[in-house]
Amino acid sequence: MSDDTGTSANGLRCVEVRVFSRIAKALHYRFPDFLTDPEVGMLVRVPLGSRNELGIVTGLGQPKDFPLHKLKQVLEVIYPHKVFTEDLFELIRWMARYYAVPEAVIMDRVFPGTLRKGLKAKEQVSLKVSDTGAVEPIEALRRKAPKQAALLEFLRQQSQAITKSAVIQAMNASHATVKALIEKGWIEEQREVDERIGYRDDLAEGDAIRTLDFTLTEEQQSAVVSLTAAMDRQQTRPILLHGVTGSGKTEVYVRAIRHLLQSDPDASVLFLVPEVALAPQTVGTLRSRLESQGVEVLVWHSHLSEGERRDSWLKIAQRQCRVVVGARSAVFTPLSNLKLLIIDEEHEPAYKQEEIPRYHGRDLAVVRARINKACCIVGSATPSLESLYNVKAGKYDVVRLTRRVDNRQLPKVTLVDMRLEYRKQKKESILSQTLVEGLRERFEKREQSILFLNRRGYSRQMICPECGWVAMSEECSIPLTYHRRQNLLKCHLSGYERPAPLRCPQCQSPKIRGEGFGTQKLEDLLRAVLPKARIFRVDADTMQKKNLFRHVLADFRTGKLDVLVGTQMIAKGLDFPNVTLVGMINADHSLYMEDFRAAERTFQLLVQVSGRAGRGERAGEVIIQTSTPHASPIQFARRSDFDGFLEEEIELRREFNYPPFRHLIRHVIRDRSIEKLEFYCKKWRETLESEKIADLEIRGPLPASVEKLNGEYRYQLWYFTPRVIATVSRIQEVLERFQWEKTTRQILDVDAMNLL
Ligand code: ADP
Ligand code: ZN
Repeated sequence: MSDDTGTSANGLRCVEVRVFSRIAKALHYRFPDFLTDPEVGMLVRVPLGSRNELGIVTGLGQPKDFPLHKLKQVLEVIYPHKVFTEDLFELIRWMARYYAVPEAVIMDRVFPGTLRKGLKAKEQVSLKVSDTGAVEPIEALRRKAPKQAALLEFLRQQSQAITKSAVIQAMNASHATVKALIEKGWIEEQREVDERIGYRDDLAEGDAIRTLDFTLTEEQQSAVVSLTAAMDRQQTRPILLHGVTGSGKTEVYVRAIRHLLQSDPDASVLFLVPEVALAPQTVGTLRSRLESQGVEVLVWHSHLSEGERRDSWLKIAQRQCRVVVGARSAVFTPLSNLKLLIIDEEHEPAYKQEEIPRYHGRDLAVVRARINKACCIVGSATPSLESLYNVKAGKYDVVRLTRRVDNRQLPKVTLVDMRLEYRKQKKESILSQTLVEGLRERFEKREQSILFLNRRGYSRQMICPECGWVAMSEECSIPLTYHRRQNLLKCHLSGYERPAPLRCPQCQSPKIRGEGFGTQKLEDLLRAVLPKARIFRVDADTMQKKNLFRHVLADFRTGKLDVLVGTQMIAKGLDFPNVTLVGMINADHSLYMEDFRAAERTFQLLVQVSGRAGRGERAGEVIIQTSTPHASPIQFARRSDFDGFLEEEIELRREFNYPPFRHLIRHVIRDRSIEKLEFYCKKWRETLESEKIADLEIRGPLPASVEKLNGEYRYQLWYFTPRVIATVSRIQEVLERFQWEKTTRQILDVDAMNLL
């Protein structure tokens, strides 16, 4: 028997703890009296074997079948309150099985490192002698207050401030002595300030959006009714909110959140966005709409400073904030009583984490919703085939928004055939006549434009027309990209770079030149076309400084810029009412990737990019430049024909039995020696095959599209299966027994998105 502080009849307090390194099994510990009262969710340090480890209290009370006198004691309580929630353990257990990653590894990645140190580091207070203020003669002080005098002398001998606790310990002094000296102004405290940005200051000018309610359109109204009804009856089947670009999905989310918070004052909400860069816009909207109702909204993503991360996490755990907006890692924030999860732009590949654990943020959110019996809304203008298929299969419900708000028109889409353009201009051109005219017209009317090209750098590669030499990355099997401003050749995979040569290293010809083009060159051309316009280029090269992207977006929103040129960073989710022209250069580029999702990606990209135009009062236009105007994803996108695209694409996937019909597990194996790699991969396939695992189809081994990366050769196998957990655990078993070469490394990527 135990009461709610874990105290038993014999006066012993006991707790059940899950230690980070082995969370599968709960262990019991005594909870000593000198510590505060135990609470489920607390972070504690406990002895385990010969080591001390961190763990989370998951229960109060004594073990049933373990002698109490043999229990070890909890050593330390890191925070005197809850920092973790029970449902996260379940989520991690599910992840471990699904993604074939040990629970301890997941726990290690999920629980922020900065929290493990506790609050002490942050609250470190040091003492030093004041620079100013008269000091009483030390002899006099010695007589009156010898302890103060000793302490003062001690500090005078120090060349730098030392921590208060160290001073007190060294001098065997009391807090009163320190306080007296501080009050006299002879010594002062120095607090170590954590580099942190306040919660409120992280919004740039132009981020903040309106605070007033819109009158909902009819479609929005009925969407809100469907969603709130689903929440009221505690429906756990996820709902796809499929709304065309500019249909006002955000407003629908806001109403759903408000409805929930009003009907359940204890509930909390998680709102996922695919990218850090999109968080401020969403946080701005949600804050302005919810905080008037006394609801605090916090942002969570991987770019927070350590201090911000710790503070936000603790605030969430202590229930001081009930709405969290963030990128994929926010799915692990310790929200309790989680009742609504919203995953916006659910089709975005950015939801997939490309390092261990390789989870999909949307899929985890769906699982966390299921664990909590919470409502789950996945939203997009261009849903993934997986989600559309879930709707077809009856696993998801769907709510549609087919029109833009205010019945604004979807933009007019013009396709420019670059092959005809070539004949007309008698040379290869990057900007078509149509696009140039469009840009000039907008600039004269003081309207804004966005130009989109999915390749950074100046030229795509550097070649020698005389001997055919191509500048290749030494470490990776791809050409180097030419960056003219720095005159560098850069490898976009490994980050390797070297100065661009003036002559061909092979035949000494001075005629070597860049071929193809990237955003840098596009920017230069654009400046020539619109010399007076304020133009900014947005790509991974210009956006290295933290927060710069946000400020650029804010400047664009407030009209301080006329044209944005950039990569996919500017393709999604952004809402700029004054943009009336969007140009898409090389629309077919993404079609020719070695990826069965290439058509889907191209379709989504075109629809999303087009969606940035005409979101305000004025109608928008989209100009798509392509050499393959007939390609079906381009045609479907031009007509915004989702159903047509879905039907065609789903048939292709069915034919090859690709996702969403089965799951794809990608196995990438790397080694510096290609011979060893080939040999072991073949042997591995034979071994795996001989196991005759049910429902498993094996393809490969074959070289990966990027055959060499960072100096290692890469081979891949593809495993197709309708049932991930069963299959992956069998593969894992076989893997553990298989004798790989010591130098061989590998990854298993469940539901792989990146196939390069
Ligand atoms: P989506 O996410 O569906 O592309 P947004 O939520 O960004 O669309 O909304 C598009 C624009 O329409 C935003 O500027 C938003 O403020 C505005 N908006 C949303 N709902 C309404 C409404 N009912 N009446 C007028 N404007 C609205
Ligand atoms: Zn040459």
